[in-house]
Formats: sequence, C-alpha cells, structure tokens
Amino acid sequence: MKVLVLNCGSSSIKYKMFNMSNEVVLASGLVERIGMDGSKLIHKPTDKDKYQFEVDIPNHEVGINLILNALIDETHGVLNSMDEIDAIGHRTVHGGDKFSDSVLIDESVKQKLEDLIDLAPLHNPPGLMGINACERLLPNVPQVGVFDTAFHQTMPAASYTYALPYELCQKHKIRRYGFHGTSHKYVAYRAAELTGKDIKNCKIITCHLGNGASISAINNGKVMDTSMGFTPLEGLVMGTRCGLIDPAIIPFVMEKENLTTRKINELINKKSGVLGISGISSDFRDLEEAAQNGNERAQLALDVFTHVVKKTIGSYVAILNGVDVLVFTAGLGENSIYIREKICEGMNYLGITISKQKNNVRGEERIISKEGASTKVVIVPTNEELMIARDTKRIIEQQLSDSDFSWDYDSQGNRNNEKVFSL
Ligand code: AMP
Repeated sequence: MKVLVLNCGSSSIKYKMFNMSNEVVLASGLVERIGMDGSKLIHKPTDKDKYQFEVDIPNHEVGINLILNALIDETHGVLNSMDEIDAIGHRTVHGGDKFSDSVLIDESVKQKLEDLIDLAPLHNPPGLMGINACERLLPNVPQVGVFDTAFHQTMPAASYTYALPYELCQKHKIRRYGFHGTSHKYVAYRAAELTGKDIKNCKIITCHLGNGASISAINNGKVMDTSMGFTPLEGLVMGTRCGLIDPAIIPFVMEKENLTTRKINELINKKSGVLGISGISSDFRDLEEAAQNGNERAQLALDVFTHVVKKTIGSYVAILNGVDVLVFTAGLGENSIYIREKICEGMNYLGITISKQKNNVRGEERIISKEGASTKVVIVPTNEELMIARDTKRIIEQQLSDSDFSWDYDSQGNRNNEKVFSL
C-alpha cells in the first residue's frame, strides 16, 4: 500500500510518500508561502535529485496539485501515475473529545472537524482545506485523519478536568486535551520494542522536548496524564511559551501593562519561555553556547527548563507508581547531551541513572541508562509521519476487512486490483 502523508499548515504543506510494504519513504517535500510572494515547492525524491519549483501558489488545492504532479513527474517523480496512491493520511491537530483514534474521513467527520474550529482556530481550518482539496483532486482515494489529541483520550477525568465551574467547562469544552499525541505514541511503542518490554504491561514516561515541549505518563499503552492542556501552552517551559504559571499573573499583567487579550496571548505564546527568561534566543543551541560563555540569564533559562521537566517526570512517576522506561525525543530530546544529562541528574532514587558515554550522542536511537539501572532511559528520534502512515494503513485495512474486499499487492508494493472507495 502506498500512502501519502500530508501536514497542512496555514501557509505551508509538508508531505511524505510512503511505500508501506517496507515502510520506505519514496519522496518528501514542502510547499511554502501559500498565498504569499515567493511561494514554492521543494520536492525531495529519495533516490533522485532534489527539485525546486517557484510558482504562484494561491491556495492549498493548487499546492496539493503541485505535489501530486511532482510525485508523478517523469524526471523527479516516484510514481507512475496517481492511481498508485492508495490512501492519504492527514495530520490533524485537534480532534477534541470526539476522536480517540484515527478515522476514515467522511462527511460526518468533516462536520465534526468544522465544529472543532473554535478549539483550534489556527490549525484545523488548513487541515480541512487540505482534505477538501484532496477530495476534489483524488475523489476515489480514501483519506484518514490522524489527530494530535487522540492518543491522550484515554486520560482519566481526574487528569483532564480543570477546577473551574463544571458547567462552564462543559459549555465551552474546556478540559485538558494534550498534544504531540502522534509523537508520544510512536516513541512509546518504539521504546518498548527497543527495551524488550510489552507496551501493554509497562510504565513509560515520554519527553517530547522541542520548540514545543510536552511529557506524557503512559501505563500499559494508555496515556494517564500529559503536560499540555486545553492548548499547547500549558505545562513545560518552551522555546517561546511560558508553560504553567500562576493564572492570576495574566489579569495582573493585563491591568498593569494595559494589554488587550491579543497582546497578552502574544506575550505568553511568543515572547516567554526560555526566550523570555534569557532575552537571547528560543534556540537551545544558542542558550547552551551563551551559558558556556558565562551568560547568567541563558544559564537561568536552561535551569528553569530542566527544573520543570524534572518536576513533571517526578509527578508522573507518582501517578504511574513507578517508571520502567523514560524516553527522550524531538529536537532537543534527541540532540542535547547537556539537557538530557541535567534532567537525569540526581534521579537515582527513581532508578534513573544515565551513562555519560552512552549519552554522548545526537539524533540516534539508543539506550543511554547505565547497565543494570531499574529504569531504562532511551533516545528515540520521533517519526510522526511514519506513525500517520501506519495508522492510515491500519484504518484502511480495517475498513476493507469490514467490506470483505482486499487489495492485492505485488512484491514492490504495487496494487494489482482496483476498488473505488465508497464513503
Ligand atoms: P523541534 O521543535 O523538535 O524541531 O526542536 C527544535 C529545538 O531543538 C530547537 O529549538 C533547538 O534548540 C533544539 N536542538 C536541535 N538540535 C540541537 C542540538 N544539537 N543541541 C541542542 N539543542 C538542539
């Protein structure tokens, strides 16, 4: 089965084309600056030269059409025809409490996504634009929605309920949803595999530490708690987001600085986090360098970041009543030797001790805990696109098995028979 994975943002579309018979990426790429000057397509076929095409891209449909044409291009393409695309998987940010798993997209799913726009005004509309464009361009190809929130839907009410008036929360659907779910799921399953544990019978804490950062507590494959909340702002200190602060600070600053809701939102989302503390950068590479050169605020930003991560891990160990595997992923989790070392420092009481030598690695899948440590500490580079492609394949196969139909593939993963998907 060949699956096209799309991640539609407001002005960009990222894509990856997978052959799922061996999970190989055939091509990947990016459409950027949709609706702006300088819009272009960057297409990277795995076994051919990279190709860049600057052209006016006024909307998502034109962008997706360009991607499809690049995929079948005589020189740069990786498919003989668009008929080879068996399914499309869409990264969809917000599934609210309506989706606890990935889903085959039909009219009722699209309506639910419309209903969720209030909760994700920046992210769900471009996702819907992508879905509608694919429907028009490839009407017979099934599409699957894979939600950033879905993996977290197993959280118990005690984890997702905020202590605000109950009716108010019900009325406006205010609760913890959690994000980065596709990444937490991918790395949790992979870490269990790597450490020889059964995901259905172990306690895992996954740390997705990138520009956006979140931690999840996973018991027997089910999320019990996660640090992001109603929005991706809650929880850890991030590149530019403040994470958890005393909520009373918000009206206090608004009054003192005479700020509108737009301005305060900008302040807590774009000007806070390690950027706000250091006054230097949101990039941890810059901060590590500045701190090494004696910049005290850069050091403070790193200290606050690692302190909050440590505190969250500790609280999740309490919730899980132990931890078998601690996972680091995303830009910082995969690459920063310093941050991993600082987070794990002084946690031997919890069975967490890492080897300096094993930790001396960037962007590689590896167990870094000391031999014999009761908690395995693992680096797993995240792969959200592969998770989306796997989920898309799973959902399509489920659908096909419900309809007593199967697709027949040759050894190269090419489909031999035809089915027009009826939704
Ligand atoms: P992401 O959002 O997952 O792409 O992660 C981006 C963050 O990863 C950046 O802000 C960087 O600070 C961090 N990062 C990437 N590479 C390194 C590295 N070699 N050392 C420290 N931090 C890194």
